[in-house]
Amino acid sequence: MKCNNSGKERVPDFLTKTGEFLLDLIYPRRCPVCDDALPFRGHLICTTCAEKLVPVREPRCRKCGRMLSFDTDEYCRDCVTVSHTFDRCISAFVYNDPMQESVFRFKYGNRREYVQFFAQAISEMYKNEIMDLKAEALIPVPLHKNRQEKRGFNQAEILAFKLSDMLGIPVRNDLLIRVKDTEPQKMLSREERRKNLKKAFQLSLCDVKLKRVIVIDDIYTTGSTLDEIAFLLKGAGVREVYGLTLCSGTPL
Ligand SMILES: [Zn+2]
Ligand SMILES: [Zn+2]
Repeated sequence: MKCNNSGKERVPDFLTKTGEFLLDLIYPRRCPVCDDALPFRGHLICTTCAEKLVPVREPRCRKCGRMLSFDTDEYCRDCVTVSHTFDRCISAFVYNDPMQESVFRFKYGNRREYVQFFAQAISEMYKNEIMDLKAEALIPVPLHKNRQEKRGFNQAEILAFKLSDMLGIPVRNDLLIRVKDTEPQKMLSREERRKNLKKAFQLSLCDVKLKRVIVIDDIYTTGSTLDEIAFLLKGAGVREVYGLTLCSGTPL
């Protein structure tokens, strides 16, 4: 018998559809906002829930990508006072209550499936803007190995891989290591965050050989994580370091 490894043989459509139908029965896809089972695979979010998420629209901060309240402003109140090491960040959604709950379940409730909706929404809203950055790689913010073992996955990494499938930009998750198991940043001030992250990451290569990269993370708060990573990458020869985050909170 001839072995065919070309990968060109396609599974007939009706089998895929039956497979998806069975998968729906066993593991129904859940809405990232209300967490209810969705009727069938074509839907990634309930129609009513989609309205609860707020995409980041203009006017946006030219540095961190956060939504601004006034048309006349160019930067948010953080970015007028803080000088960032990263070049610019794109953030897809406002970190409002429904988004906060969604991200919480995504990370701590093992709702990895939400990533399909998150990546698709980011790609639909910002594909052109992301492609204009001409990045050679997507770099997910790494978790410390203890935390990754406990959680079972890295949310930034699965988001990066899903975006990579949609945008055709490769993922490089081999460049950065998180060497410090940092305290959760939620309750920390800007200065405490900066200290907490000092020497939290290391590069696994001295010469990164990439000119433009996009760092992927779930939430943008003060930009300390992005700055710390941009500092390392720029020290290893990367010229432009951008950020792409699922959501952004209001300035601290
Ligand atoms: Zn819903
Ligand atoms: Zn800003």
